[in-house]
Amino acid sequence: MNMPKVAVIGGSIAGLTAANVLRDIGCEVDVYERTPQFLSGFGTGIVVQPELVRYLLERTDTQLDEISVPSTSMRYYDGATAQKKGETDASWHFTAYNAVYQKLLDAFGTDRYHLGRSVTHIVQTESGPVAHFSSGPPASADLIVCSDGGGSVVRSELLDVKPKYAGYVTWRGMVDESELSEKTWNFFQDAFSYGLLEDSHVIAYPIPQVSTDGRLTGRHRLNFQWYWNMDEGPDLDLLMTDRSGQRRPVSVHHEAITEQNLTGLRERTESQLGGPFRELILSASKPFVTVVSDAEVDRMAFGNIVLIGDAAITPRPHAAAGAAKAASDAWSLAEQLEMAGGLVGEALAAWEPERLAIGHAYVAKVRAMAEVLQHGGNFPPGKAEYKFGLPRLPHTAAG
Ligand SMILES: Cc1cc2nc3c(=O)[nH]c(=O)nc-3n(C[C@H](O)[C@H](O)[C@H](O)COP(=O)(O)OP(=O)(O)OC[C@H]3O[C@@H](n4cnc5c(N)ncnc54)[C@H](O)[C@@H]3O)c2cc1C
Repeated sequence: MNMPKVAVIGGSIAGLTAANVLRDIGCEVDVYERTPQFLSGFGTGIVVQPELVRYLLERTDTQLDEISVPSTSMRYYDGATAQKKGETDASWHFTAYNAVYQKLLDAFGTDRYHLGRSVTHIVQTESGPVAHFSSGPPASADLIVCSDGGGSVVRSELLDVKPKYAGYVTWRGMVDESELSEKTWNFFQDAFSYGLLEDSHVIAYPIPQVSTDGRLTGRHRLNFQWYWNMDEGPDLDLLMTDRSGQRRPVSVHHEAITEQNLTGLRERTESQLGGPFRELILSASKPFVTVVSDAEVDRMAFGNIVLIGDAAITPRPHAAAGAAKAASDAWSLAEQLEMAGGLVGEALAAWEPERLAIGHAYVAKVRAMAEVLQHGGNFPPGKAEYKFGLPRLPHTAAG
């Protein structure tokens, strides 16, 4: 079988999963990653979905327990009083971004993972697509897989689509066990916890602690997010303006957050959150803030160029399966290419409609969840349509 030569743009979850599965079916694969150093993702939490860890569990010797923390329930509290409103059985595993990233990178190796290569544009030529970068030589391939994330340069080149602000931001952070009282640490163990408020919600769950080089330390920490409704305008601009006076489009990292905004977070925590939720957020030494956005496309294949993961459809986080969608785009691409005997056009014709359908259904699901989570404080415990994960489409076995 003659498999295509592949250039993957962006080496995170989608890019590394694609690189591994495409190499496994016989493609020659190179990954081009914008950042000059390996990614860390700050070690923030991810709820494990089967698609996210499929490569690690099926094709490497990684054990799920080695990279994750198990849980048995989902708990729903009034965020202001910490009084329990409901609880359901839910056996999720929680991991950290860089635990998954490092394992996927270990599997692919670093020889063909090129750092500091930021794609600027792609040119379609008669002999195939060619990616151009801000530095370094261009890369030609039979297939270019674009997994350059929610702010995808390639997507904005191919389509008139930009991420649309969802009307709220999320404060995020992590707190080590040693930084919390025993009571608060125990309160959050063994569960995914919601703290529900009239116009916002907090989530918290335990994750493994990972060192900066991506290795697990054997200790645990709590991961949290607090979503704040905020219209576009001066308040949002102030929050997203860093210490140097620059208005950041997506995230303000901890070191860059102004004293005024850190004080605002502390004051709002003290006035609105109760008990363990208050202690958790006040204990975070490096909180940071991200705007929540989503983007949808109606095409993912353009000749011999494809968009996958967040570079195609960028979902909000509430059903905890954005990374799983990214990974399953990659798996499905390899499966279709293998079935088509390496013929890119045939493979993409079968691949694209199914991936679009799953992506659109997932965005609809997370938007519906956001509507309830951010308005009214009454997120219903255990409602089937809000269960974490990708939607299962009736006409397909995938999803
Ligand atoms: C607050 C929050 C919480 C989340 N929680 C979860 C969760 O619990 N579970 C879950 O499954 N998902 C979660 N997600 C979603 C998940 O993080 C994303 O869906 C996932 O990271 C998408 O992977 P990706 O590889 O497509 O894109 P990304 O992870 O964004 O990676 C894009 C890569 O492309 C690189 N890149 C960008 N531009 C260029 C360029 N021009 N040239 C070369 N490289 C480039 C970037 O440096 C990066 O490495 C969450 C998202 C957010 C915002």
